[in-house]
Amino acid sequence: MRDNGFLGERLESIWKLLFGDVPKLNNVSIRFSGKSKSKFGHIARKGGDTEIVINELFRFDDVPEYIIDLTIAHELSHYAHGFNSPLKQKYRHPHKGGVVTKEMTLRGFDKMIKMEKMFFRKEWPKIYERLREFKK
Ligand SMILES: [Zn+2]
Repeated sequence: MRDNGFLGERLESIWKLLFGDVPKLNNVSIRFSGKSKSKFGHIARKGGDTEIVINELFRFDDVPEYIIDLTIAHELSHYAHGFNSPLKQKYRHPHKGGVVTKEMTLRGFDKMIKMEKMFFRKEWPKIYERLREFKK
């Protein structure tokens, strides 16, 4: 089962390899929390720091690793656009106009985004049911 240390390592690798041009201007932490069926992650400002939160059910190996990578990349795109980060805000709204998808496509996630759509529709509902015990 994955832990918060795993998330920290993934965040560091993805940032270095695929978001290397995005300066890290504050402390950015990442942890598992929440067991939503429809929400995979979010990014928030905590004082001067930034916190990324990933769906707690993604601790389980039932969820493929690329789903976690995509969720991290999604939240890093918000950071790059100046949402819940010290960077200059690039857009008026965090999602309007598909700016996150565009950002991720530019960074090479286009194929994974298609895979995620399939996963969300076909696999995730089954996994979510299977993890029912843990959700209590
Ligand atoms: Zn978002």
